[in-house]
Amino acid sequence: MARLILLGAPGAGKGTQAKALATLVQIPHISTGDILREAVAHQTALGVKAKSYMEQGNLVPDDLVIALIRERLSQPDAQTGWILDGFPRNESQAAFLDELLEEMDQVYRYAVNLEVPDDVLVQRMLGRGRADDTEEVIRRRLQVYHHQTAPLINFYQVRHKLVSIDGNVTPEAVLDKLKSLL
Ligand code: AMP
Repeated sequence: MARLILLGAPGAGKGTQAKALATLVQIPHISTGDILREAVAHQTALGVKAKSYMEQGNLVPDDLVIALIRERLSQPDAQTGWILDGFPRNESQAAFLDELLEEMDQVYRYAVNLEVPDDVLVQRMLGRGRADDTEEVIRRRLQVYHHQTAPLINFYQVRHKLVSIDGNVTPEAVLDKLKSLL
């Protein structure tokens, strides 16, 4: 069963890669960022609560994101595999995910860390022009990444699940490496 967690800073290419890989192996690409942006656009209860955190480059509170991912992973299309992009984002989300998957009798193969230097990340994000990609918000998101998300590298390493990939090469080269992990 193909189940991969994509780690990496904002701008590392998680979304692009997850999308390509999911199409290739016909499993869902589950992006908490995409689901949240959609909720904001439709002004759902979740979107209304999440909006200000996202606009500031902060993490949306764990209880909201955890409920969202629990719901999404229980859908029929997620039973045969998935690529997770943007979740987990901190240690409590990662611990929750391990518990949830145990409960669901599912295991993931790897957590893949896409390594890209900070200056390259900033340039990439400035170039993509998303609403939360202003320079100030980008800096905040990088700070949040280093403080809250980067510790997950160690979390998965001690569980012997971590694979690191150089993300500062062409998208095709990254995709080739990812394909070899499935
Ligand atoms: P992304 O598209 O993954 O860069 O996410 C965009 C924004 O959505 C982030 O800056 C956070 O505000 C929020 N977000 C996405 N995933 C999570 C998560 N797992 N936990 C908390 N906030 C999240």
